[in-house]
Amino acid sequence: MGNIQIMDEWLSNKIAAGEVVERPASVVKELVENAIDAGSTSIDVFLLEAGLTSIQVIDNGGGMDEEDALMSFSRHATSKIHQEHDLFRIRTLGFRGEALASIASVSKMTLITSNGESGTHLELEGGHILTHKPGPLRKGTDLTVSQLFFNTPARLKYMKTIQTELGHTIDLMNRLALSNPQIAFRLLHNGQQLLQTNGRGDVQQVLAAIYGIHNAKKMVSFQGESHDYRIFGFVTLPEVTRASKNYMSLFVNGRWVKHYLVQKAIVDAYHTYLPIERFPIVVLYIEGDPYLTDVNVHPAKHQIRLSKEPELLKLIEETIREKIRSVIRVPQMEKKEKSVKPVTEQLNIWKPAPKIDVEKMNAIVEKLYDVQTIQENNQQSVEPEPIPDVVGDKDNWQPAPQIETNEVEEVSIVEQQEVLEDEPTKEPFPELEVVGQIHGTYIVAQMEDGFYLIDQHAAQERIKYEFFREKVGQVNPHERQALLLPLTFHYAADEALILREHKQELEAVGVFLEEFGQSSFVVREHPSWFPQGEEQEIIEDLIEQVLTTKKADVKKLREAAAIMMSCKKSIKANHFLTKEQMETLLRDLRNADNPFTCPHGRPVLIHFTSYEVEKMFKRVM
Ligand code: ADP
Ligand code: MG
Repeated sequence: MGNIQIMDEWLSNKIAAGEVVERPASVVKELVENAIDAGSTSIDVFLLEAGLTSIQVIDNGGGMDEEDALMSFSRHATSKIHQEHDLFRIRTLGFRGEALASIASVSKMTLITSNGESGTHLELEGGHILTHKPGPLRKGTDLTVSQLFFNTPARLKYMKTIQTELGHTIDLMNRLALSNPQIAFRLLHNGQQLLQTNGRGDVQQVLAAIYGIHNAKKMVSFQGESHDYRIFGFVTLPEVTRASKNYMSLFVNGRWVKHYLVQKAIVDAYHTYLPIERFPIVVLYIEGDPYLTDVNVHPAKHQIRLSKEPELLKLIEETIREKIRSVIRVPQMEKKEKSVKPVTEQLNIWKPAPKIDVEKMNAIVEKLYDVQTIQENNQQSVEPEPIPDVVGDKDNWQPAPQIETNEVEEVSIVEQQEVLEDEPTKEPFPELEVVGQIHGTYIVAQMEDGFYLIDQHAAQERIKYEFFREKVGQVNPHERQALLLPLTFHYAADEALILREHKQELEAVGVFLEEFGQSSFVVREHPSWFPQGEEQEIIEDLIEQVLTTKKADVKKLREAAAIMMSCKKSIKANHFLTKEQMETLLRDLRNADNPFTCPHGRPVLIHFTSYEVEKMFKRVM
């Protein structure tokens, strides 16, 4: 007898389950997609313990008759593809006919379904039917999957925390709601409602349900058409950005897909309007002949091949760019700009009396002239040798080796700080005498063996950073200040989850969130040392920090907070200082733990030794 046998159906279902049923979210996906395919206008999803205990999906779709209900659990049972030809014109979501069989094989399942004429109630365990009886006549399907992976403990071990698993399902439900605004969705977890859409076909209502009304209001619609494709959707104005690409949702003929080049086309459409590494919130619907979109690439069906891709990418980029250009407004940065004083105030300038040593000056000019004439005479060069421009010409000028310019621009602020913290910095800070200020940006200060240029903005950032680092390192309950008007913050359900999970860490840096409705929070008080007038922005930035890293380590969050606060309200460039202000700044700088670099790692001061200056003037060789 040969060795090859047809695999037992039960075993092959279990193997297929490994492919299709990865985690609770994949079960929710299959069940909700079936409900959508059945023509439902209302779909409710109830989860217990992120779905690991139970997942129940109730729809009001067409339901099944008894025969179909029994059939639906056999592998490759599908009512959706009858001929090979159908495979290339897929309009429905499910089409492999293996989801129910696979899910049933690794769980305990209850199916109550009716097409309005007869009702069926089935109970299964590990794919085997235990109970089969008539059910109620309510049209639609009520399917419960409990104890997922009860018979595949190895799979169960791979499950992450409840929050992670729930996060996947929320993401999924958000996408399903966005691709089906004509269906009313509800998602409840342990009795708490996480999403509700009204099913009236209004995408903006769905966006509001997901990202909060506040953000939805800052989104504008767009639409465009080419020979083969039609696109439409919503994008945020450039002032609303996120640190991750996850807020860009793409749907091709109603199916959620990931497509790197489409994402890139969207980001390119914003071109210079977006800060680096920030992304818009976008929902983009692409419609075209199903022949042009090949979805049968992977069982999870997220990848897609698009025909006539360049045409589509061009359409997307141009349509969105046009829209943004037409509605662009000045971003709401006024708050930040306030810290630059108006011109009238700047007129109150202290300027050092220029002390010119005429004799020395003449000597310098003479020497320069000498050099030139010698060169001309030697016909080595017709051009006079360039006079080194100390401030402007970076190529010719190397900062004195005492100060190291750390190239940390690309490292995240948190990492930078770690570098700085460990750095032993007890190099003595020079005793400096203020000479004056250049361009309202640099302080010139001298000492015996030369002079220093101090970047006043970097200096102030360093001083403030050390102040805030100390404050935020020990949030004192007595240093609180109540806000006249509480601040409110609106987030998406999954973001709210992350925030709830990190409530303590946020409190450790002075952000006291109080729950306020489904996924909103209020802040009624903050530490009194929060930079004044910037409280809202600081709190938003800190929340954003937690949302992007998703795991907030108090130590890192504190460092990030201190850096953030130090950047606010620091003296910006072009701000004229009095001599007293400059002296105070230098004194504070001298007392800093590390006066030589700003919190971002850039140098605070550059040393020009007398020797170097003399060399530049060719007084010494
Ligand atoms: P597929 O969706 O790929 O056809 P499934 O295993 O997910 O395969 O479902 C098998 C069949 O069961 C479907 O083709 C459909 O006829 C029926 N079915 C599943 N869920 C529902 C539902 N909620 N309402 C009506 N019919 C359903
Ligand atoms: Mg299906």
